[in-house]
Amino acid sequence: MDGKAYSKEILEQIKIKVCNMQKKPSIAVILVGNNPASQIYVNNKEKTARELGFVSKTYHLKENTNANELKDLILNLNSDKNTDAILLQLPLPKHLVSQDFIELIDPKKDVDGFHPINCGKLMTNSNPYAISCTPKGIIKLLKKYNVKIDGANAVVIGRSNMVGKPLAQLLLNENATVTVAHSKTKNLSAIAHGADILISATGIKGLVTKDFVKSGAVVVDVGIFRDEDGKINGDVEFEEVSKIASLITPVPGGIGPMTIAMLMENTLELSLNNAKF
Ligand code: NAD
Repeated sequence: MDGKAYSKEILEQIKIKVCNMQKKPSIAVILVGNNPASQIYVNNKEKTARELGFVSKTYHLKENTNANELKDLILNLNSDKNTDAILLQLPLPKHLVSQDFIELIDPKKDVDGFHPINCGKLMTNSNPYAISCTPKGIIKLLKKYNVKIDGANAVVIGRSNMVGKPLAQLLLNENATVTVAHSKTKNLSAIAHGADILISATGIKGLVTKDFVKSGAVVVDVGIFRDEDGKINGDVEFEEVSKIASLITPVPGGIGPMTIAMLMENTLELSLNNAKF
C-alpha cells in the first residue's frame, strides 16, 4: 500500500481547498529542547504546512523551560483567535510531564487528538474534534485499498496512547474484532497469526517475521527504527512477509507520509470548525 502516493493526493486536495479560503488555516507548533529527531519532524511539518498555504508558526523553547512558561504559552495560544491548531511536539524534556500539558490544550485546537476529551469522543464514537494522525492515516489507507475492516480480525501490536490505543478504538468503531498485543503478551506470533489485518507499532526492527503472518493477511508497519547509518527500518521483515501478505506497507513510504497528511487534514478541519464559532 503506497502511503507516499496517496498522501500526495490528499495534500493536493487540501491545497486546492485552502486556495479558496479567505482566512487560511493556522497551526502553532511548540518544540521544547533540542531533540534532533523532533527538530527534523517539526521542520517537515512546517514545510508541508507552508506548501499548502497554511499559516505555520513554530515556538522553539529552550531545554530548561519551566512548567509555567510552557503552560502560559499554551493558554495564550488557546485564546488566540488566529491560531486554529496547536501541536505540542513530544517527547518533552524529562522534567516536564507530557500529559499535564496535553490536557491544557483546548480540545478544539488539539490537532493530535490526544486531549482526554478527544480520546473520550473517539471511545464513544461521537465526533472528536481531531483523531490521532497515525491511526487515522492507517484507516484511511486501508479504505483506499478497499480492505474490508467490518468483521475482520485485527491484531494491533503496541498499546501507546499515540498509536496502539486510538488505532484499536478506530478499528473497533469500524466493526473489526480487535486484539491488542504488547510487550507483556505471551505467544505473540500465534496471536498475530490469527489476524486478517495485522498492524505493528513497536519500533522493534524485524519483530514481525513470516511466522507471524497468515497467508493473505493485510500487514501495516508503523514502526520506525533508525540504524546507526541513518537507514530507516520498520517492525516487519518486508522481504519475507511481502511474499505471504495480500497487501503490505513499506517503511519508509507507508504510514509516515500518511501521518503528515492527516496532520494537515486535521489542521484544515479544526480551522473550518473554529470558523463556526
Ligand atoms: P511506544 O514506545 O510508546 O510504544 C511501543 C509499544 O510497543 C508499547 O505499547 C509496547 O508495549 C510495545 N512493545 C514493545 N516491545 C514489544 C514486544 N517485544 N512485543 C510486543 N509489543 C511490544 O511507541 P509509539 O509512539 O506507539 O510508536 C511505535 C513505533 O511507531 C515507533 O517506532 C515510532 O517511531 C513509530 N511511529 C511511527 C509513526 C509514523 O508516522 N510512521 C508515527 C508514530 C509512531
